[in-house]
Amino acid sequence: MVEAYEIDVLREPRLIAADPHYAGKSLEEALHELQEEFKCVLVAGGRPCIFLDAASTCSIYPTRPNECVAMQAGEQQCQTSRKAEGLSPLATVGS
Ligand code: SF4
Repeated sequence: MVEAYEIDVLREPRLIAADPHYAGKSLEEALHELQEEFKCVLVAGGRPCIFLDAASTCSIYPTRPNECVAMQAGEQQCQTSRKAEGLSPLATVGS
C-alpha cells in the first residue's frame, strides 16, 4: 500500500489521478481535502500503481511520493512486497 499526502501532491499533482476517490475533483478540491480533512491519496493498494509503466519502472520517478522514496530497492519490505506479487527476489545493491 502506498499513500501520498499534501506535500506529495503539491510536488506531483498527477498523483490524485491514482485514487478513484478524487475522480472528477479539481486539484484545488483534492488539496482542500488533503489539507483540511487530513485525507491521503491511495496511490497503490489492492490494485497496481497507475504510474508503473510497461517496462515495470516508475513513470514519475523524480517526483514519486515520499513513501516510495523511503523504500529502498531490495530491502526487506521491498522483497516481501515482490514475493506477495509473485515476483522474484531483487538483488540488493552491493550484494
Ligand atoms: S515508485 Fe512509482 S510506480 Fe512504484 S508505487 Fe511509487 S509512484 Fe507507483
